[in-house]
Amino acid sequence: MFSRRRFIAAAAGGAASGMGGALSGCALLNPCTAPALPPGVASPGEVTYGEIRRCAEETAAGLRPFAVAVPPDAPSIISDYGSWLDTNLAMRPFPHTGIDIAGEEGKTPVIAAMDGFVEEARHVYSGGNYVALFHGQDGRGNDLITIYFHLARILARPGAEVARGAVLGLVGNSGTTAGSVPHLHYSVFVGPDLRRRHFSAYFYTAHQDPHRYWHDGPGRVTLFKPGARYGNRQGATYPAPGRGEAAYFERLTRGLPAI
Ligand SMILES: [Zn+2]
Repeated sequence: MFSRRRFIAAAAGGAASGMGGALSGCALLNPCTAPALPPGVASPGEVTYGEIRRCAEETAAGLRPFAVAVPPDAPSIISDYGSWLDTNLAMRPFPHTGIDIAGEEGKTPVIAAMDGFVEEARHVYSGGNYVALFHGQDGRGNDLITIYFHLARILARPGAEVARGAVLGLVGNSGTTAGSVPHLHYSVFVGPDLRRRHFSAYFYTAHQDPHRYWHDGPGRVTLFKPGARYGNRQGATYPAPGRGEAAYFERLTRGLPAI
């Protein structure tokens, strides 16, 4: 049985327990550094979300030239950008193209990271119920898009203009997340002519490290504060509210029609 906090890493391909052994858990869980298992060894150990987060941080540390600071009030990142380990503890066939944020199914709001337009709001096999926002272009003529996957409900209308912090939907487990906990997959895409194309056309080529784009600067995860003024239109705020804002968003979300 899957539990929220502790999973059997059946699909993770790790060696038998021994996370504190000669090899770190991350080495065992990362196919780039994992040693080949002896034939017949198929009894993986257990890993916790704490260990997954640590692995994700180590993986990400090799990718980015800045540290990432997540406010304690922010819902947890359970699989970071660049991580090889999926939230269902299967190995990914490619490094993660976004960040996965844990939330309560049908309850935790998913909010716009920046002002923008709802480019897509529908269902697809892999991403489940999803919303894509267009945020304009950068100085080089590249389109800036953010995408929000696996929603329980969509609460944004295609074509609508949305402000930073607007509720786009509720965290869920839709799409190909079998065996995972409910979470939001959040991706940032930058590139020419992304707008009005289906995300699958650029999903593997135009993704960027979302931690480069926070409002307060690279690596400085910025929680959305209702009523605050945000000078930098294209600096992102976290796509899920801080726990301290739960009551505000509960009021806001109540009464929004599902799409
Ligand atoms: Zn994801």
